[in-house]
Amino acid sequence: MAAQIERALEDRIIELRREIHRHPELGFEEHETAALVERELDALSVEHRRCAGTGVVATIHGANPGRNVALRADMDALPVAERTGLSFASAVEGKMHACGHDAHTAMLLGAAHVLTRRRTEFAGTVVLIFQPAEEGPGGALPMLQAGVLDRPKADAVAMLHVDSRLDVGTVGITAGGVSASTDELRLTVRGRGGHGAYPHTAVDAMPAAAALVLALQNIVARETDPLASAVVTIGTIAGGYRNNVIADCVTLSGTLRAHDETVREELARRVARIGSGIAAAYGVEIELELVPGYPPVINDEPLTRGFAAYLRLEGGLRVEEPPPTMGGEDFAYFAQHVPGVLIRLGVRSEAAQSFHPGHSPLFRIDEAALKYGTQTLVLFALAVTQDAI
Ligand code: MN
Repeated sequence: MAAQIERALEDRIIELRREIHRHPELGFEEHETAALVERELDALSVEHRRCAGTGVVATIHGANPGRNVALRADMDALPVAERTGLSFASAVEGKMHACGHDAHTAMLLGAAHVLTRRRTEFAGTVVLIFQPAEEGPGGALPMLQAGVLDRPKADAVAMLHVDSRLDVGTVGITAGGVSASTDELRLTVRGRGGHGAYPHTAVDAMPAAAALVLALQNIVARETDPLASAVVTIGTIAGGYRNNVIADCVTLSGTLRAHDETVREELARRVARIGSGIAAAYGVEIELELVPGYPPVINDEPLTRGFAAYLRLEGGLRVEEPPPTMGGEDFAYFAQHVPGVLIRLGVRSEAAQSFHPGHSPLFRIDEAALKYGTQTLVLFALAVTQDAI
């Protein structure tokens, strides 16, 4: 059942990846990328439709009815100015595929090549989800709401994400929470302005904001189980007019992250409690706005363990169990709906200088990983549809 990727297909996947890399598009602007995906699917006679604007959903039917599987790739780039100096570097000023979504899209197209040739080997249907706007505002939820996992009803869903922590030739599969919730925090501290020389005639928002930043750190340091995962980051603080004016208003923003919903809810509750406490202590008003972000990705235990074992046996790849990250990933919505697994694909090598983290202007991948990723997607589709995991 091995799914080795032959040289000609590998070359095609690399070619597609470079073409996408050269023309990065931001969330919900993936017009050229979607058109490229559609052209490639048309050439394979794979049926497809648009979904959530720039998203594309393709279906490959097996020989008989059976279990259905969904494979998802994201297509969007980032507002980063590329500095890799690669021959196929971004041709668009200020935009770059710095998170590897170009590779994800190319590998899913590679899987379409293999699966169309091997229709007779699986029952059921493989749904290929080419998703827009993972980096925000999020394309997974609108696609899910449009029914991509319901018609046909998917029995399992998987995605790949390139990972510069793992060596090329390695695949990372870890059960449980593997990416974090990404709720956004907005705080407004309101006092009463005045002259810097006469603080007693005003209510200074500045020291209250400073106290708030420090007090919030107590949530992770002293209130969260040290064995749980949580982040409270204040990323911006802004306020004031000039050196001798007392600020009437300071705004802060930040991110709250957790791997499970209970911790996630506790973080929000504790921020609110500390906000009220600081407001009372400093005589200011504090307004809290919490903008819900992506949920954590929870890799389904039996599916994850089953596929890791299957991949070790059938794929001939090194399968590791990397630790979870506090990054966010809107694949979470798909994995809430049906059993899902986020698979990490090693792309690190000294030769390819692919050791810079995602979102860096120097981000690179070792393209040798593309064939392993494609192979992994194909094996996942075969394993689920053949009821082997
Ligand atoms: Mn990403």
